Amino acid sequence: MKTNEFSLLGSELGLTAYGAALCGVVDGWPLTLINNSANHVQLSVDRRRDAALVKEINAVLKTWGGKVRGWNGNVMTLSGPSRKKMQGSAADYVRFCAFTLSHACLRPLDVCPYCGGGNCDAAAFSKKGYQAVHYRCLQAEAGKAHSKAESNRENGSYLLGILGAFIGMLVGTIPTFLTVVYMQMEYSVLFALIPICAYLGYKLFRGKMDKAALIVSIVMAVLGVFILNFEYFAFLIKHENGLPFSETLSVMPELLRDGEVWAAIAANSLQEFLFSALGVFIAWRLISGTAAGSAANADAALRLAQPFGQRAAYNGAANQNETE
Ligand SMILES: [Zn+2]
Repeated sequence: MKTNEFSLLGSELGLTAYGAALCGVVDGWPLTLINNSANHVQLSVDRRRDAALVKEINAVLKTWGGKVRGWNGNVMTLSGPSRKKMQGSAADYVRFCAFTLSHACLRPLDVCPYCGGGNCDAAAFSKKGYQAVHYRCLQAEAGKAHSKAESNRENGSYLLGILGAFIGMLVGTIPTFLTVVYMQMEYSVLFALIPICAYLGYKLFRGKMDKAALIVSIVMAVLGVFILNFEYFAFLIKHENGLPFSETLSVMPELLRDGEVWAAIAANSLQEFLFSALGVFIAWRLISGTAAGSAANADAALRLAQPFGQRAAYNGAANQNETE
């Protein structure tokens, strides 16, 4: 579905955008719409996978070309509709999904993902998509995430982080190093490990979790490529002369002083740098799961919460107009 179509669908159903997804409550069902090729509808139901029910639901959704795509634990994913079998708008299909599940005697899961208790009073984006929660648990979760981020801001150290990243970077070069020494092969894809390990080292050594984590990972990725290539050069020179491996280290200082070697490495390592960049990208994704990142996520979850269920009676949610 095109992005503008998707956001139109969201406003038609009264859903809110959350990243690339839409979430909210449709006809009593908290759900998440995922904009992919199959237009997934994801909901938490009060039962676990039941083959007979899947058959029953599929038989109904088939009229729109939809089906139960997955049912893991309590999370059910429905796909469709297919273009050929559209019987109305995409919004109609989402409502039809909610209707079909209710008709199959399923109910939205009423178990708070944070405390495991029932009688939820809100719907919010949590671990498994948009689902019923206790508003107070959501608030407590946000409070915890904030104090964790706060303590990292106060106690995190750039210096220790950089040290950790350096050690992590060296660890990340080991697989490439070993394949070169023992297989005389170099797999560029392994270079992606360098920034990932550098980032993990940064985190492990309690580096301050802000933009510096990413910058340090990038610097270490570049440094790692150079270190590996210097070692590779040294290895080639010495190996060809039949000298033992330990001797290869002795030519390193000489190579490091040679500007031409630096230039050659920079010019010949395009692929390695590309895979390092991939690793940086992965590290960056990991960073959004850090203290500051999860505090921001918790805030977003609070913002997107809305009253839900029999006991819906809390104050302070942003979207109270949408379900009641
Ligand atoms: Zn709870």
